Amino acid sequence: MPKFVKKREVLLLVLVCFLTGFGSCNQASSTNQQKQDSIAKLPIKPVIGAENESVAFKQNIDTNKSTIYLTFDDGPQKGTIGCYNTCKSLGVKASFFMVGLHQRIKSDGKELVTLIRDGYPEFLLANHSYGHANGKYKDFYHHPQTALQDFLITQDSLKVPKKIVRLPGNRAWVRANDVTSSHLVSGVANLLDSTGYNVIGWDLEWNFSHKTGRPIQTPEKLAAQVDSAFAHQNMHIRKHLVILTHDRMFQRPADSLSLAKFIGLLKSNPNYVFETVDHLPGLKN
Ligand SMILES: [Zn+2]
Repeated sequence: MPKFVKKREVLLLVLVCFLTGFGSCNQASSTNQQKQDSIAKLPIKPVIGAENESVAFKQNIDTNKSTIYLTFDDGPQKGTIGCYNTCKSLGVKASFFMVGLHQRIKSDGKELVTLIRDGYPEFLLANHSYGHANGKYKDFYHHPQTALQDFLITQDSLKVPKKIVRLPGNRAWVRANDVTSSHLVSGVANLLDSTGYNVIGWDLEWNFSHKTGRPIQTPEKLAAQVDSAFAHQNMHIRKHLVILTHDRMFQRPADSLSLAKFIGLLKSNPNYVFETVDHLPGLKN
């Protein structure tokens, strides 16, 4: 696609993102939680074009089905092994966006990262930065070259197999012909794009309480949100729904059971299939 078209699209999308605010995948304040909650309620229009549909076809994705991408962020943390075991026992695929620093500071961090990396194709290890921007998101994104280096270091330290990133504290999409980001992160999004990386956002979040760290929606409520998203095609890529959760939300047995219940509800719908995010249409190789 010509560069000027891309830039024009980016400008339009920047405007949309400016109007909708930016998302959050973090351990930050209740203000950010309120932003997350408000974003989760916002309608997101699908932007996939016909060219992306053909990519999906080439990847042998059954286009009659609706594909769900479970994603777990911020591991390795308490809760990672529970998420892994739940998904494995229920036979569903999932992607883990991991943080380089957490591998270093958690006693079994390396083992958990290796478990996910070696779990492919059922599980996918992806890049979620080295230090989660140290919680200082504006500073992190105001220095795009430094932010890019952070992702490259993480790619190496976690031995991430594919060029797939999720930005900390912000929702953005970067695919072959798609750069969708807020103004704040556009610098690093474009750098990641030109370095061959894909950036994966999300369509629906399983919110958590910043007081207790526990899931907010019940499994039934979240499953209804999934059904509604597909019914209205309220997602970035038509028929492909990316769900954001965090490993640490499921460290308690009761919450781990909620995860299993949620997955069970989705599995009861024969039109739903689960994939890892590297199977999203339109990604760069
Ligand atoms: Zn995160």
